[in-house]
Amino acid sequence: MIMRRLASIFAVGVLAFAMPCGAQGLRQQANRDAADAHARRHAESDLTSLRLERDPTAAVHLVMSRRTYEQMPDLVRGGLAKRDSTGAALMLVETQARQLSRISERIHQRERRCGGYFAFASRADAEAFIRADLSQQAKNSPAAKIRYTIDNATTVAPWLDQVQHANIHATITHLSNYQNRYYASSYGRQSAEWIQSTWMALAAGRSDVTSELFACATCSTQPSVILTIRGREIPNEVVVLGGHLDSINISGGGVGQRAPGADDDASGIATLTEILRIAMASGWKPRRTVKFMGYAAEEVGLRGSNAIAQAHRAASANVVAVLQFDMTNYRASSSVDMRLVTDYSNLPLQTFLNTLFDTYLAPRGLTRGLDTCGYACSDHASWTSAGYPAGFFFEGGGADGRAFPLIHSTSDTLANMGNSAQNSGKFAMLGLAFLGETAKTSGLNTLPARAAASGR
Ligand SMILES: [Zn+2]
Ligand SMILES: [Zn+2]
Repeated sequence: MIMRRLASIFAVGVLAFAMPCGAQGLRQQANRDAADAHARRHAESDLTSLRLERDPTAAVHLVMSRRTYEQMPDLVRGGLAKRDSTGAALMLVETQARQLSRISERIHQRERRCGGYFAFASRADAEAFIRADLSQQAKNSPAAKIRYTIDNATTVAPWLDQVQHANIHATITHLSNYQNRYYASSYGRQSAEWIQSTWMALAAGRSDVTSELFACATCSTQPSVILTIRGREIPNEVVVLGGHLDSINISGGGVGQRAPGADDDASGIATLTEILRIAMASGWKPRRTVKFMGYAAEEVGLRGSNAIAQAHRAASANVVAVLQFDMTNYRASSSVDMRLVTDYSNLPLQTFLNTLFDTYLAPRGLTRGLDTCGYACSDHASWTSAGYPAGFFFEGGGADGRAFPLIHSTSDTLANMGNSAQNSGKFAMLGLAFLGETAKTSGLNTLPARAAASGR
């Protein structure tokens, strides 16, 4: 998560290049393939000019909290005080690409958690990102475009008993067996392509399911993966479930370094994969459009998710709910199974997520708590900044709620989490409840589409 904040900064720079293409792809379903191909070509040509990951002295512009900034005067320069739309004290700083791993290591050590910055290719991009911030709207707006309701137990309840820990375990094992999934490495791209083909295989040729690799100009060769299930009744209302597919080793970074990233965040991708498997196996067809996302380059500043969120914003896409999965598998001595993150997320969605938990998971003996994760700690922050309602349940962790201490190292492995995917299974159940109750089931729910749509 730490590295994610850095990535966000870069994502802003990326957006300037990638957004028009992304917007075009979203608007023109009929020309989707052509638009996607265009977006990829566009982003790839931008890559040749940016190449931030190839030039260790390249200037990188970061947006971070003032608190984070005060811990690293030796690593950044040119601090300019800013505030986002919520009034949070931010700093716009400049550093060199080679310093990003040291910055993330500092955040990891001093704040004992992930995230911390958005990364951009230019100061102008970083300033534009802060000026355009919509976090205040995204946090508090009852916004959220639709009324969240719980009336689809017919679909959700049978799904919950189908979660198989062995499947989640196998996906985490496969993903952590890559040398790394670092955004600039060949493994980073190979793992993204594997996720796309695995997800599409689960859809078994359904004509209402499509996928794409979403390139971003600061994401190097690693694309984000997006699988879309087109809604049958309200296709313009979009539900997003996502997690980041990249990993990192902050002891030096680099394209060859071992970074298994089992908890951070193979566990999130594996949770998403099991959710998709169960929904597809049941033959489920949603009323609203659903997008499963594996975000690129989160560990270097939320770059993939920021590019995607801003592309949706540029296309005026009506994203009605976003759920983030980042680290779902570690629970040591925590008193609770999962913790709802309460900062940089939407208040009505937080209430809804707690109610979902109490309706579907609490009766199974599971417990929940609360947490905060600070500025730009994971991909939900990209959606929040773009003005969309986002929520995030985090793993139970240690006794004091701390995250898995071995992330961002060679030791982030299943073996160091009891060789079990039990905890991720709980998140798969939560995600299935979220999926069924936000996207609803075509032909099943009693509310006419028009009435549901007017609940915004
Ligand atoms: Zn991380
Ligand atoms: Zn993470």
